[in-house]
Amino acid sequence: MRNVIAILLGAALACCCALTAAAAPTPLLPASSPARFSWPLVPAPEVLRPFEAPGSAFGPGHRGVDLAGEPGQPVLAATDGVVVHAGWLVDRNVVSVEHAGGLRTSYEPTSPEVSAGDQVTQGQVIGHLEPGHPECATACLHWGLREGGEYRDPLELVRGTRVRLLPW
Ligand SMILES: [Zn+2]
Repeated sequence: MRNVIAILLGAALACCCALTAAAAPTPLLPASSPARFSWPLVPAPEVLRPFEAPGSAFGPGHRGVDLAGEPGQPVLAATDGVVVHAGWLVDRNVVSVEHAGGLRTSYEPTSPEVSAGDQVTQGQVIGHLEPGHPECATACLHWGLREGGEYRDPLELVRGTRVRLLPW
């Protein structure tokens, strides 16, 4: 009987430890960071195409993620910042927002509702989604992130992993 109790006790402790470990998620960003990011589309969209880091500055890759949406859907600022570009860029409408910590997010193709220099807050409508991004059946938002000029995976902002600086 004593053995049975010991086994049960052991199992209970093991359970307890497992729960404790699971209850400590990696913080989204350092606690001191003022920047908290959220999805630019609501509800949280399906990711149609992931980020593929380019091998070189002009090399092939996918410099952002494609998020499923509908034409005309509101596009939201992922966090507080200042609009650095809002309008036509080469062949599509783009909104770019500069955030604290040297991060910059971009949203395309997006018909802007803001102008360069505007202060925006997290969740604010900055434009409306347009169709036309390559390989998207109806419309999808190409959401990009740069940190100090380097392209990063924007899903790191909303999936709880920290944005890491490259070692070079
Ligand atoms: Zn894309």
